[in-house]
Amino acid sequence: MTPSGLCIIGSGYSAAALLLHLEARGAKMDGVTVIGPQALGTGQAFGCVNDDFRLNVRAELMQVWPDDPGHFANWAATNIAGDREADTDVGAFYRRRDFASYIASEIRARPALASLPHIKASAVNISASGDGWDIELDDGSTTGASRIVLATGNPPPVWPFREQIADTPSLVRVPWLGDWPENIDGGARIVVIGSGLTALDAIHTLRHRQHHGRITLVAPDGMLPPVQTGWRDADALEWPQDVRASGFLKFMRDTVGDIPWEDTEWQRRFESLRYHISAAWQRLDAADQGRLMRRFGWLWSLARFRAGPQAFGSAQMLLDTGQLDIVTDMVTGITTTSDGVHEVGLATGARFSADAVINCSGAGRDPLITRILDNGTAARHQTVRHRPAMTSELALIRAD
Ligand SMILES: Cc1cc2nc3c(=O)[nH]c(=O)nc-3n(C[C@H](O)[C@H](O)[C@H](O)COP(=O)(O)OP(=O)(O)OC[C@H]3O[C@@H](n4cnc5c(N)ncnc54)[C@H](O)[C@@H]3O)c2cc1C
Repeated sequence: MTPSGLCIIGSGYSAAALLLHLEARGAKMDGVTVIGPQALGTGQAFGCVNDDFRLNVRAELMQVWPDDPGHFANWAATNIAGDREADTDVGAFYRRRDFASYIASEIRARPALASLPHIKASAVNISASGDGWDIELDDGSTTGASRIVLATGNPPPVWPFREQIADTPSLVRVPWLGDWPENIDGGARIVVIGSGLTALDAIHTLRHRQHHGRITLVAPDGMLPPVQTGWRDADALEWPQDVRASGFLKFMRDTVGDIPWEDTEWQRRFESLRYHISAAWQRLDAADQGRLMRRFGWLWSLARFRAGPQAFGSAQMLLDTGQLDIVTDMVTGITTTSDGVHEVGLATGARFSADAVINCSGAGRDPLITRILDNGTAARHQTVRHRPAMTSELALIRAD
C-alpha cells in the first residue's frame, strides 16, 4: 500500500480542531485523509440528537481558537435562536448539537477542509508497511498513510460487569447520543448506573419528558458531580519541574486547599491547575503515573467534571420530590424475566426490578488501541498495561 500522507483516524472534535489549526497555520492539505464513521466534528459528545443534552461548560470556555476565546459564544449569540433554556446565572450553556453546528460552519468556511477526503468507516487495525502504515477498515478495505493521528476519542461504554448483555430499547448501553428516551414509557421504573455527567443528562431529559416513574441511580460513591459556578480569571499555574507522585499530589492539594469543590474559588484554582497538567503528567515516570491512577484516578474523574446548571437542577428537583433515589452500591449483573422486567443485581446482594436500565458508567476500551497493543504495533504503558506508552509530545512508541 502506498502511503498517502497524513491520515487522521477519528472524526470527532479533536480531528476537526487539529484540521482547523493546521489550515490556520497554512499547512498543505493535499494528502490529508480523515477516517471515521460520523460527520467531522461531531463524535460521541457533539453528535447527539437530544436537545436536552447540553454542554457542561459555559459558552466562552468552549474554545477552538485560544486567541479569540469568545468565538463560539459570539457565533452562538448570532446563530442560535429560540433556546430559552441556554442562559443561566453563571453563563450560557448551549445544546451539544449546537456546538457541532458551530464546528461544521468553521469547516465549511474553509474550502481546503470542506473538500478533504473522508472515509466513512472505522479503522480496525494498523500495521507497519515500508516507511508508512497500513490501516485496515471495518468495510474490509485497506488504506495507507505515511503518518497517522489517532483521534478516536471516547470509546463507547460497555456494561460495568463481566457478563455483557444484548442492547435492547430498554437496556441502553450507550446513552451518549440521546436517541433512547422515546423508547421508554413515561411510568417506567428506571435504574441509572453511574452518577456522573451522563447520568445527569439522562435525568434531565427524563424530567423534561415528564417522566413519572421511579428513578434509582446506583453508583459506588453515591455522589453527584458539583454544579458549575461562575468562576473567572483562572490563570495558568506553572507546575514544578522535577517531582515524583507525592510532589505532584502535594502541588494539587496546596493549590486547591481545604475549600469545598462546590465553591467558586475551588473551581477557579482547579482550572488554573488544568492548563499545564498534561505536560506535568507526562513528565512523571510510568511507575508514578500508575501509582497515582490506582490511588486517585476515581477522585480525578469526579473532580474534573462539573455539571451544567440545567442538568444539575433537574437532579436536585427530582431528589427533592423523592422521585429520584441515589443508592451507594455497584451493579454486578442484569437478568431479564420472561415478562421483560430487568432484575438489577448489586454487590451488596440487593436487587432492583426495573423496566429500563441506562448505563452511564463511562467510556469503554478503545478496540483499535487494544488491537495495536496486542499485535505489537505500539508499546504498552509500563504500569497501566491497557494504555499505550507515549512520548512527552503524545506520540505513540513503536513496540520494536
Ligand atoms: C457524552 C459526552 C459529553 C461531553 N460533553 C462535553 C462538553 O459539554 N464540553 C466539553 O468540552 N467536552 C465534553 N466532552 C468531552 C469530549 O469528549 C471532548 O471535548 C471532545 O468531544 C473529544 O473529542 P474527540 O474527537 O477526542 O472524541 P470523540 O468526540 O469521542 O470523537 C472520536 C471520533 O472517532 C471515531 N472513532 C473511534 N474509533 C474509531 C476508529 N477505530 N476508526 C475511525 N473512527 C473512530 C468515533 O466514532 C468518533 O466519531 C464530552 C464527552 C462525552 C463522552
